[in-house]
Amino acid sequence: MGKVTGFLEYARQEEAAEAPEQRKRHWREFVLHLSDEQAAIQGARCMDCGIPFCNNGCPVNNIIPDFNDLVYRQQWRQALEVLHSTNNFPEFTGRVCPAPCEAACVLNINSDPVGIKSIEHAIIDKGWTEGWVAPQPPKRKTGKKVAIVGSGPAGLAAAQQLARAGHEVTVFEKNDRIGGLLRYGIPDFKLEKWQIDRRITQMQAEGVIFRTGVLVGSCQLPGGVNNWARQTIEAQQVLREYDAVILAGGAEVPRDLPIPGRPLQGVHFAMEFLPQQNKVVAGDTVQDQILATGKHVVVIGGGDTGSDCVGTSNRQGAKRVTQFELLPQPPAHENKLLTWPYWPIKLRTSSSHEEGVSRDWAVTTKRFLDDGKGNVRALVAARVDWQQDPLTGQMRMQEVPGSEFELPAELVLLAMGFVAPAAPVLDAFGVERDGRGNARAATDGAAAYRTNVEKVFAAGDMRRGQSLVVWAIREGRQCARAVDEYLMGASVLPR
Ligand SMILES: Cc1cc2nc3c(=O)[nH]c(=O)nc-3n(C[C@H](O)[C@H](O)[C@H](O)COP(=O)(O)OP(=O)(O)OC[C@H]3O[C@@H](n4cnc5c(N)ncnc54)[C@H](O)[C@@H]3O)c2cc1C
Ligand code: SF4
Repeated sequence: MGKVTGFLEYARQEEAAEAPEQRKRHWREFVLHLSDEQAAIQGARCMDCGIPFCNNGCPVNNIIPDFNDLVYRQQWRQALEVLHSTNNFPEFTGRVCPAPCEAACVLNINSDPVGIKSIEHAIIDKGWTEGWVAPQPPKRKTGKKVAIVGSGPAGLAAAQQLARAGHEVTVFEKNDRIGGLLRYGIPDFKLEKWQIDRRITQMQAEGVIFRTGVLVGSCQLPGGVNNWARQTIEAQQVLREYDAVILAGGAEVPRDLPIPGRPLQGVHFAMEFLPQQNKVVAGDTVQDQILATGKHVVVIGGGDTGSDCVGTSNRQGAKRVTQFELLPQPPAHENKLLTWPYWPIKLRTSSSHEEGVSRDWAVTTKRFLDDGKGNVRALVAARVDWQQDPLTGQMRMQEVPGSEFELPAELVLLAMGFVAPAAPVLDAFGVERDGRGNARAATDGAAAYRTNVEKVFAAGDMRRGQSLVVWAIREGRQCARAVDEYLMGASVLPR
């Protein structure tokens, strides 16, 4: 423990950020990391708890008290080693993770948690700036070949671990660039894409082969799933040519809203809208780009994806942005004694919300209205009331009679989550699905991450359903160990 009285002396310090009016004018990241001194003070607040709940609250089990202490002592290089020992890509999580570790921090019971995420952000940025993040090619090659389908954080984490264990790893990606939702879901203003490119260079130097524009398991993908593949490879060919296969294709099938007017021009899935802007920022030309410029935009869905649509719409110059959520507005503060150390349900205001949006809660959208030329011009919505069923305890929704209202809407973005992975990809490999349509595979025991098909494993959103970057990294790492054990009979990779 760095400073015994640190938690009594110092307050939590948030990272500085560019003002909303300025940052709305560009697509760059706008959150600055803490200075060395500020990070040291934040590290000094850590109590080095006997039972560090932060470590358990973190899906990759970051060894948080240790790097907090090292940063307090300004031993940055050692802090980086500790951080990298559990997390391949702290520059991603240090930017986009919601930080369940902070919800679990013991200091959060009666004070503000240690700024763990800001310390992580500071460590990894310093690591890259100082040139400490270098390729770690294996000393020996095993001669085994592993195919990874999908280049999101799960596929990338698995690839890096397996390449470092000496296997020949090929990552197949149907889209034109590597990164999964890091590349084409999360906007640049939250994660600039050179951060991914830098890791790809490192991984190539470690032996990972990347093949973009290749759809594995030639099949017809469901509507709403992006596919920019120029080439397909049959699942059987992959099975023949590789000693193990990891399916890490994400959960890409979006939840639709099949109400009257859905086919109108101007009603789009979020994942039709967001990737186009990321492509434009990357320098591509997008024909007939879906744009919010000068429009009344309504985002349906109150989660992260919806929030990214808000930030993107504002940067494109929307006239007004409204965001609907079906659930009632959560309380501003959680009852910590009831929720700690778990992730609490409370009102969360994202940086995109700060930039301007009208948020409306407990609203259901009933139909989209036509402008007479096939374009959406407005929507009709109604208020709903949520009551607990006295018998089952489940929350039930009822429309409030007479509460219908009309709202101008020239662009509607559906951001209501993702229902499942694209089933045809799993079917192509003969992989069984669980009740929610995800690839069926356990995470523990001798068959961890193994599907019902010999030598086929599954990880990330494709196995667990729509989730978070940090969970995808965890699953990629754990799956890599399972594959290494399968191929070699034993593994020294961490779980
Ligand atoms: C808009 C948006 C914003 C988000 N923001 C955050 C955030 O701020 N913080 C956070 O923690 N999480 C966020 N998430 C969730 C997070 O991005 C995902 O949980 C995470 O990326 C899942 O990682 P993955 O590797 O399992 O899959 P993905 O990132 O979905 O990657 C899967 C990849 O597999 C490819 N693929 C699929 N099938 C095939 C095939 N047959 N052949 C070849 N390639 C294939 C896909 O093209 C895709 O690139 C967000 C999600 C969205 C949609
Ligand atoms: S729970 Fe909070 S105070 Fe305790 S070790 Fe973790 S970061 Fe430090």
